[in-house]
Amino acid sequence: MRLNIGIDGPVGAGKSSVADAVAERLGILHLDTGAMYRALGLTALRRGIDVQDEEKIVRLCRELKVTVGHQADGQHTFVEGEDVTGLIRTPEVSMAASTVSRYAEVRKEMVRIQQRLAAETDMVLDGRDICMTVLPDATAKIYLTASAEERARRRYLEMKEKGQPDSYEQVLEDLKKRDDQDMNRPVEPLRQAPDAVLVDSTGLDFNGTVEAILKIVEEKRNG
Ligand code: C5P
Repeated sequence: MRLNIGIDGPVGAGKSSVADAVAERLGILHLDTGAMYRALGLTALRRGIDVQDEEKIVRLCRELKVTVGHQADGQHTFVEGEDVTGLIRTPEVSMAASTVSRYAEVRKEMVRIQQRLAAETDMVLDGRDICMTVLPDATAKIYLTASAEERARRRYLEMKEKGQPDSYEQVLEDLKKRDDQDMNRPVEPLRQAPDAVLVDSTGLDFNGTVEAILKIVEEKRNG
């Protein structure tokens, strides 16, 4: 049977790096689904398309070829063959991704691609709607979170390392704004699936979080 693991959670919960480590330990791939919404958001910004204009964004999403590939250093995301991996992590792209992901037709398209990839290969998927929509029959479902202050602190340190100059207060404000938009959108809002296991990483370090998730996966696999 396919080994598919879903990890959902709010901004900055560490889903992507934790999912990467979990996938590596299990010897399977990790699909960062947020990168696909980010690629669409980036392209809208680059082309001067208003992200609030649903019709235009849906048209762009249908025309655009967003693909992902796995290389030695992890997932790479491509738009029309251009590797945009290094361009999709800015605060502007984060907010644009959150806005374009509100549209039902955009979600339908992205979910279709993600389900196809997960059906082909054993993988860990991280995002917002994985456990409820993309992988309703996942082997294990995790809702990974931490307090907003802890998530903002981690994201601030990560951005500082990359030379991005936002203050801690700005990072916290952006994080709360994006969570609010993701949790209160009409289509597939972020929430914990009833059958997902909650992992609160506020008091856990990175390895502790990875181990906690691996233990849940093991329990679910042994049934
Ligand atoms: O996970 P990440 O922060 O990279 O995702 C960027 C944005 O894409 C999120 O704020 C969310 O609005 C959207 N997203 C989504 N569904 C997913 C993954 C991401 O709506 N499965």
